[in-house]
Amino acid sequence: MSDACLFCEIVAKRVPATILREDDHTLAFPDIAPVAPFHALVIPKRHLAAWRDVDDAQLASALFRACAAIAKDAGHDDGGYRIVANTGPGAGQSVRHLHLHVLGGRRFAWPPG
Ligand code: 5GP
Ligand code: ZN
Repeated sequence: MSDACLFCEIVAKRVPATILREDDHTLAFPDIAPVAPFHALVIPKRHLAAWRDVDDAQLASALFRACAAIAKDAGHDDGGYRIVANTGPGAGQSVRHLHLHVLGGRRFAWPPG
């Protein structure tokens, strides 16, 4: 738990979010400013600022399994979806609590912008 961390506040249910999926290690909820018809965030419940702080293979696995599960539940397993982790200022990370974006429902360009 980190004070003044928005996503820790969502984990603590002090900031509201519609929970799409929850397990022992992860929480998934819709992004407040979606950039695709389906846009959700998957976060570790534990405050970790960056990927370099991930010291637990079980947590890494749980994060990606959660992404796959919510994409499937939202109907994007066949059509495809994109998992994105903006890491650091150069990649546009704005919330310093580790998170994966799961995007679906439209075509995505490659390379990304
Ligand atoms: P980043 O820019 O760090 O890769 O992603 C952070 C994401 O958090 C952004 O896509 C932004 O829209 C989302 N976000 C920011 N504040 C809130 C909030 O209060 N609730 C939810 N659900 N998403 C948020
Ligand atoms: Zn946090």
